[in-house]
Parts: sequence; C-alpha cells; structure tokens
Amino acid sequence: MAGGVAVRRVVVGPLQTNVYLLCRGSDCIVVDPGADARRLLRELEGRRVLAVVATHLHFDHVGAAAEIVRATRAPFVVHVLDWEMRGAFAEMARLWGFREPELPEPELVEGDAELPLGLKAVHTPGHSPGSVSIIGAGFVLAGDTLFYDGVGRTDLPGGDFTQLVRSVCRLYAELPERFLVYPGHGKPTTLGREAGENAAVPRSLCGQLAEAGAGLMPGRARESGA
Ligand SMILES: [Zn+2]
Ligand SMILES: [Zn+2]
Repeated sequence: MAGGVAVRRVVVGPLQTNVYLLCRGSDCIVVDPGADARRLLRELEGRRVLAVVATHLHFDHVGAAAEIVRATRAPFVVHVLDWEMRGAFAEMARLWGFREPELPEPELVEGDAELPLGLKAVHTPGHSPGSVSIIGAGFVLAGDTLFYDGVGRTDLPGGDFTQLVRSVCRLYAELPERFLVYPGHGKPTTLGREAGENAAVPRSLCGQLAEAGAGLMPGRARESGA
C-alpha cells in the first residue's frame, strides 16, 4: 500500500512484461496490459477500471489493451508522441516475430497529465518519444525508462539516449530516494538505490549532463569543443 493505492504486479507474455494493477478500494487503473487479458480481468475480480494506461506503445506493453478496454469500457491513455509512432512500433512487432497489437481508440495526453486515483503521468522520453512514468504517493511506475540496475534500450524507433538520461535524472531530482520504482520488466527497486548504484545512469552522470549543457552525445560534445 502507498497512499491508499495498492500496487499489484502481474508478469505476462514472452518478454516477461510487468503489468500493474493500481487499486484503491474497488477502483483500479491498469498499466501496461501486455498480454493475457483473461488473467488480468480475473485478477481485477470485477473491480471498476477507471483507465488503462500505456507507459509506452511497444507491443509487449499493450498486447491486451484492446481486450481490457472492450471488457471495462475504460479510456486508453497514451502519450501523443508514441501514438504518432504506432506504425513503426507495429512494424517492430512484426520484425520481432510477434503479432501486431490491436490498439483501442486512445485518449491522448501531452506533457504531464493527471490520472484517476490521484496519480500523475509525467513525460519521460528516451526509450520511446512518448514514454511516461506514473507517479503515486511513494512510488513511480517507470515503464522501460528505469530498471533495477539498468535503463531501457534506445536503439528502437524514436529512441534517444540523451533524452533517456535527462528523464532518469528528472526522476532522481524530483522524487524522494525512498520512492519505490516499479519497472516495466524485472524486480522493483528504489530511487535511492538506482541514483547511487545504477550501472547505466547513476546520479553522478546527471551532474555531467548539467555541465555538458547540450547533452551527452559524443557528436555534440565535439561540436561544442570546436
Ligand atoms: Zn519498451
Ligand atoms: Zn518492454
């Protein structure tokens, strides 16, 4: 429990995606329903679903979205910059040998946005252009932006490592260290643990980013040095 919102993690699909059921009383939000709609609906036990939210539109996070939305009539919340990439993401699913996910009509958000249950979606681009993290009292659902001891890959369509570093640094800077991080894959961690010891983006890298100003990409650094 955190601020009255209970967080339940359910692992689904071939890429072991974490789905989160965030519930307060009989009201819930479903985050990243990657697969296995029937199991997710069973776990919800008839509670009301106020929204289905995608931290980003990669197929392993939205494979069951259409089915959940049909069953619950909840709005499907997604960032506009990922919605604009849906063609490229569908192509990516095909290239990886997966079925292209059926997507429900979206309710598009831009920048940061309020969600039901007092939660907030903040724009944390980098793994994808429209990646969001969902913040509640005492926790952050980081999607594929931040993992235990790692960060999301940035070699997929629209990925950008400098943006990703900025996004992770924003989480370190704006949220307390005790906050639990619930990532899109793998086990939960805390912001303090990752800020101190994350192998890819520790907080020390954020200072370098601030000094570099323009960014961390080698090309940019050479430009500014010339
Ligand atoms: Zn992803
Ligand atoms: Zn993923």
